[in-house]
Amino acid sequence: MKTLVVATGNLHKVQEIKQILEPYGYQVLGADECGGMPEVVEDGATFRENAVKKAVAAAKALNRTVLADDSGLEVFALGGEPGVFSARYAGEGGNDGRNLAKLLLKLEGVSERGARFVCSIAVASPDGTVLGICEGEVRGRIAAEAHGDGGFGYDPAFIPDGYSQTFGELPAAVKNSLSHRANALRAALHEIFHVI
Ligand code: IMP
Repeated sequence: MKTLVVATGNLHKVQEIKQILEPYGYQVLGADECGGMPEVVEDGATFRENAVKKAVAAAKALNRTVLADDSGLEVFALGGEPGVFSARYAGEGGNDGRNLAKLLLKLEGVSERGARFVCSIAVASPDGTVLGICEGEVRGRIAAEAHGDGGFGYDPAFIPDGYSQTFGELPAAVKNSLSHRANALRAALHEIFHVI
């Protein structure tokens, strides 16, 4: 079995990446399981830049080939907010609950609720060489209020196109078959790892 280290301390992301990649014969380990994620300042202007920063820093620190995910939510009526600020929308020291509350408040009375989740995946080798970068998205809309407690982040407010329930309500298997992360990882399996 091939082992892949994921450059994140976010256990939800590790869990999702495991579920998506294991059927392809990968053993997925979080950075915490093999030395710890180094401190990385995520100050890039794009998901892509931040994914590369995390992959390179972690690959060098852990001396492993590493896959990093940088992702977030873009709401069209808000000009793409929260975008790269998704994790800290409600300010430093905020959390998923406060970020979500801020978003729903900003969208109160707004009828145009289209949005997309975006994910950039970067893979780096132990010497810091970037082996590839892939992107994925899933389109949908923001619900009037939060529903369900599955997933993480903005999942309780995001209804993917073709469904009437949020990612917080839908089974994990459904989210992991159509999410931005699933689409970016499938692109990486094809373009970087050449296994599909
Ligand atoms: P990152 O860890 O710096 O990539 O920040 C990702 C942030 O974007 C998370 O803290 C969430 O707020 C949001 N996000 C990314 N992917 C998802 C997802 O699959 N569901 C819900 N929120 C997500």
